[in-house]
Amino acid sequence: MLKPERYQHFVEYFTKNQPEAVTELHYNNPFELLIAVILSAQCTDKRINQITPALFERFPTPDALAASTPEDVFTYIRSVSYPNNKAKHLVGMAKMLVDVFNNKVPPDINELQKMPGVGRKTANVIASVVYDAPAIAVDTHVFRVANRIGLTTRATTPLAVEKQLTQYLPKQTLGVAHHWLILHGRYICVARSPKCAICPLSWFCKYYDHTNSDTYLLKAEAAQKRKLETTQKKRKLNIISKELKKRVVDKDI
Ligand code: SF4
Repeated sequence: MLKPERYQHFVEYFTKNQPEAVTELHYNNPFELLIAVILSAQCTDKRINQITPALFERFPTPDALAASTPEDVFTYIRSVSYPNNKAKHLVGMAKMLVDVFNNKVPPDINELQKMPGVGRKTANVIASVVYDAPAIAVDTHVFRVANRIGLTTRATTPLAVEKQLTQYLPKQTLGVAHHWLILHGRYICVARSPKCAICPLSWFCKYYDHTNSDTYLLKAEAAQKRKLETTQKKRKLNIISKELKKRVVDKDI
C-alpha cells in the first residue's frame, strides 16, 4: 500500500470515529494548559491531573507564579518526574510571561520556545490547541504510532516525524491528528505489546502487515525455538555444574 493511501485510511477512520479528540490534561485557560504541558514531559497525564488543581489554586495567574520561588512550587509538584527542574522552569516561564509577553501566552511557536521549559513539542501543543494553528506536536506516542502504521518512513527524530506528518496530513487535521495518535498509542498501540488483535487500523498498518507475513512468522517461530533450546541447554549445564561441585565437596570431606 502506498503512503498516501495509508494517510487517507487513517484520516477517514478517525474523522468518522473520533472527530472531537482532545487532550486528557485538565485546564481552564491557556496559562494553565501551558503549565500542565510543561509538567507532562516524561510523566503521565493522570499524574499531572492529580496535582494541578492545588497548583492552579495557589498560582492562578502568571503574576502569582512569577512572584513565587522554585522551592515553593516544588512542594506542589514533588510527585511528578524531574520536580526540581520543572519548578524552576515554571517560575522562569511565568516571569517571561509577565516581563515579555504582557501576561498572555504567545501564539507564535518560536516565541513560545523562548520560555524556560518550552520545547518544540510543548510549543506545538499550545499553538494548535489554544490558537488552532496548523501544527502537530510529536511526543513518544506520536513518534511510535506514526512509524508503526507507516505514516512515516525512516524518520529518526521528532522533527523528521513532524515534517512528514505535516507534509501528508490535510492541514485542518494536524491539530486533532496529534490527539488521535496519542490516544491510540496510549490505549491500543501501546509501546511493549501493541493490541493489534483489536486494532481497527490493522488492515492498513505497516507493522501489522510485516509482523503477520509468512516470513516474519517463520523467523519468529525459529527465534522462539532457539530461545527454548538455549534455556534448556542452560538448565542442563546448571545441573551438571551443581553435580560436579557436589562431587568435589564430597571428595574433600
Ligand atoms: S495494528 Fe498494531 S501496530 Fe498497527 S496501529 Fe494497530 S496496534 Fe499499532
